[in-house]
Amino acid sequence: MSTGLKILTAHLEDPELHTLAGYERHGGYGALRKTLREGLTPEKVQEEVKAANLRGRGGAGFPAGIKWGFLPKNTDKPIYLCINADEGEPGTFKDRLIMERNPHALIEGCLIACHAIKAKVCYIYIRGELLKCIKHVERAIEEARAKGLIGKNILGSGLDCEIHVHPGAGAYICGEEMSLIESLEGKPGQPRNKPPFPASVGLFNCPTIVNNVETIAYVPWIIQNSGQAFADLGSEKNGGLKIWGVSGHVKRPGLWELPMGITARQLIEDYAGGMRGPKKMKGYIPGGSSCPPLLGTEIDIPLDFENMKKAGTMLGTGCLTVFEEGVCTVRFAQRIAHFYEHESCGQCTPCREGTGWLYRNIKKLEHGEQLDGGLDLLESICNRIMGNTICALGDAAAMPIQGFLRRFGDEWAAHLGAGRCPIQG
Ligand code: SF4
Repeated sequence: MSTGLKILTAHLEDPELHTLAGYERHGGYGALRKTLREGLTPEKVQEEVKAANLRGRGGAGFPAGIKWGFLPKNTDKPIYLCINADEGEPGTFKDRLIMERNPHALIEGCLIACHAIKAKVCYIYIRGELLKCIKHVERAIEEARAKGLIGKNILGSGLDCEIHVHPGAGAYICGEEMSLIESLEGKPGQPRNKPPFPASVGLFNCPTIVNNVETIAYVPWIIQNSGQAFADLGSEKNGGLKIWGVSGHVKRPGLWELPMGITARQLIEDYAGGMRGPKKMKGYIPGGSSCPPLLGTEIDIPLDFENMKKAGTMLGTGCLTVFEEGVCTVRFAQRIAHFYEHESCGQCTPCREGTGWLYRNIKKLEHGEQLDGGLDLLESICNRIMGNTICALGDAAAMPIQGFLRRFGDEWAAHLGAGRCPIQG
């Protein structure tokens, strides 16, 4: 249940929040000052983040503190922090809010995280189309540097840390951590095989941590208030608040910062104003187009990583796409399949060929044509892609299609040989 507390969106009413003066007016950089003043060791900061149950907010939900713990303990190589600000998942628009309206929270989080993992350089990889984000984050870095918060000997503490913005060129695949690293190195954005994982061999072959914007922006609050206090705000194993998004056929699409474990019913009815018209909710995708859909009747499941997995989907980015009765789920899935075909980097055959094969067959189905092998053909293509690719884009293309088949199979079967779309004509 929400206590009404907000962290990253607490002072959005202040039009100057994106400036250093505005951020400091609301206590900004207090956590960094506390870290330096109290001499919090990297180990202590890592402990607090572990205790916070801060799960990665980019989609996979891996606990941030545990990820940091994968770095080698003794290395003579430089360690890097990379911020994944390449927000490109369809239906997701939360990191953009942080970078545009509260960029210093991200910068302060980067500085504390760099201290925790002993990195002296951080790269913020921002999606190239997000021009306002790039502008605001770059300006925030300049302001912070001018005040001695970034650079050499930060606030006289002896700590050094540089932060650079690197704009991407708009490829969805660069939101995948290995691809992001390749792109940062100036190469085409194509994922590398794992292992080795970036914690041991990452940017410039050095140990690297890649974290999402929202994940890192919560770190200052955790340091100011304790990991336990953050954990207590959410549900079991899913600490804290999160910025939830709702788009699609609702009255008031938008973003709200609320506890982990809230339900879709609460989000849609209490915050997004309910459905936009008289039509009932047919279903929703919980967190970006790579997540399998749920039915409109499955809105009382707590939105957290474990419960979404139990329901056969994923929490993903926590930005819901809601659709009403009358939407043809085959047409909907066709658009998703087209997206993944377009965004496949082409390195591995199951993804390069499979995503196009999937798209072409769903398109045929949408037009009411027969498929050789019926719907089993689609299932079989998905199975051949899943788990057989270098990166998760292959799975991201196949999983929503399997999900649509499971939840809306009758509707898909009605398309077979119908000569037209039986839902929309
Ligand atoms: Fe590229 Fe797709 Fe293979 Fe990922 S799964 S490496 S996007 S071809």
